[in-house]
Amino acid sequence: MTVRTRFAPSPTGFLHIGGARTALYSWAYARRHGGAFVLRVEDTDLERSTRDSVQAILDGMRWLGLDWDEGPFFQMQRLARYREVAEELIARGFAYRCWMSREELEELRKQQIGKGLKPRYDGRWRPERSAGLKKPEGVNPVIRFRTPEEGEVGWHDLVKGPIRFPNGELDDLVLLRADGVPTYNFGVVVDDLDMAITHVIRGDDHVNNTPRQIHIFDALSRTGLFGERANLPAFAHLPMILGADGERLSKRHGAVSVMQYRDEGFLPEALVNTLARLGWSHGDDEVFSPQQFVGWFDLGHVSHSPARFDPEKALWTNQQHIKRAEDARLARLLEPFLETKDSPPLDRVVSLLKDRANSLRHLAESARMFYVYEEPAAAKLAELLNARTRPALRMLQARLAETPWERKALGAAVGAVLKQSGLTMPELAMPARLLVTGRTQTPSLDAVLELLGRETVLARLARHLQGD
Ligand code: GLU
Repeated sequence: MTVRTRFAPSPTGFLHIGGARTALYSWAYARRHGGAFVLRVEDTDLERSTRDSVQAILDGMRWLGLDWDEGPFFQMQRLARYREVAEELIARGFAYRCWMSREELEELRKQQIGKGLKPRYDGRWRPERSAGLKKPEGVNPVIRFRTPEEGEVGWHDLVKGPIRFPNGELDDLVLLRADGVPTYNFGVVVDDLDMAITHVIRGDDHVNNTPRQIHIFDALSRTGLFGERANLPAFAHLPMILGADGERLSKRHGAVSVMQYRDEGFLPEALVNTLARLGWSHGDDEVFSPQQFVGWFDLGHVSHSPARFDPEKALWTNQQHIKRAEDARLARLLEPFLETKDSPPLDRVVSLLKDRANSLRHLAESARMFYVYEEPAAAKLAELLNARTRPALRMLQARLAETPWERKALGAAVGAVLKQSGLTMPELAMPARLLVTGRTQTPSLDAVLELLGRETVLARLARHLQGD
């Protein structure tokens, strides 16, 4: 059997962390098993679906590297198919038309609540019960599914294990609305069959929909409309994602859109790594590539309990991936974050700084000192540039004017000044850093000097030591 999975987003917003995790697991499962990954856009909520959201979801998936083999398919372009299938269900006695109005439904609801019952449609338009009912004029009926009233329905969830529901808890759900648009449960089942999906991997907020969908699958497999493909897929329901505070992850927790992570300077592979760890583990492995993930991913190691999204850990993971990334690639990715000049070459700057950056934004922040001179804060300057350091910095200035410009020689020049002045390394290096970069936190002084270049270093030193 060829594995076929799908990601079926409703285009009502950005691709958020939860959706991206679902997409990632479905994609990885298909890739791991040499199968196909299908993208299907569930755009039947006409009020909330937008083209911008479709675009945002596709952009997010592309950025993460989640390539799909088929689609995107759009449910709103498949209305004729849902109609055809619904009519066939009616013809076979698995579904029926219902003319109950909104007001009547509301009335029924009130009565049931009044009696302390759970509100549910009472099946009054089932053909065998509707003899005395009058069809209203000029009203399009909905099509409802005839849900078995007795017995149970269940499945073996690949994440959660066996799950069962009594049929008595389910009512005759609407398949097709009066305007011909399918409900979520119907569209999903028709599509999962038409697209020959073998594994449905999705959030566990859909556990309650699954018994309804299984009933529809069963009925459809008996219509002959789907021929060979009428197999019930396996289901895997992924645990919920919580924020660091233990509440369900939402906008309140800051960045939840995948593209926001890109804009904040995440590498896509770092976000993939972070998403992968939300409810799945592979021994003690914390840092891994998308390729490794595909090689390891299985549903058996998806956790049963909610996952926690920790922004600090996400940044740490990003830092590990930045360290591993190639300098030239990082330099390219830094472009939107930083205005550079030809010199020093950005990839050399990146190579010096990347071990300490937890985002591209942070890396750009550190790299900026090589391209833009930041005037040191006056208070810092007053503190570090004093009667003890000033003569030593003058010595340094004089030596640097004659030192060959490469790291080793520069280090030796600094060493000679230490000896001559009697200062300690921090006593000399701190003010020197401040004068040449405007900062006191930098990589080692000789490396910084080398990259900045003689002209820049001497000009910056002179600027503050003038008039001595
Ligand atoms: N459109 C549904 C959602 O976004 C998909 C659920 C499913 O995968 O069946 O929640």
